[in-house]
Amino acid sequence: MWIPKTNDELKKLLKEKEKTARITGLAGALMVIITLIVDAKYIGVKIEKFPIPLTQPIFTWTQIFNSLPGISMFGLVVGIFGYLGMRKIRLITTLICPKCKRIKGYDKVRDCSCGGHFVFLDEMNWIEDEKPENDETKENT
Ligand SMILES: [Zn+2]
Repeated sequence: MWIPKTNDELKKLLKEKEKTARITGLAGALMVIITLIVDAKYIGVKIEKFPIPLTQPIFTWTQIFNSLPGISMFGLVVGIFGYLGMRKIRLITTLICPKCKRIKGYDKVRDCSCGGHFVFLDEMNWIEDEKPENDETKENT
């Protein structure tokens, strides 16, 4: 049966989510920075119809080093969006009413017809129903 998680378990869940968001943001920022450097050095940038035509296909390491503040800023922006997006996104969108155990997909209505209040499934724990008869037989054997 489903039972609500304790406050400590909910805090742990939030901490894990925060950690995942930070890793996602950091990984996103690093990927953008590395991609831009590799692209500038080995693939080249050629955007002729852009406001400022870039005609130099391959940059020197000095040019890339001089562009690092801009590249890093771009990576930082992507990282911040990745972090904020990952904090906001919910991987589990199933809702359950702790009172009557009714399950439904995500919507904005949180009040259940039984008078309970829907919560996300990852805020609940599943435990097997206790079977006292079986436990007694195990003890006797
Ligand atoms: Zn209910």
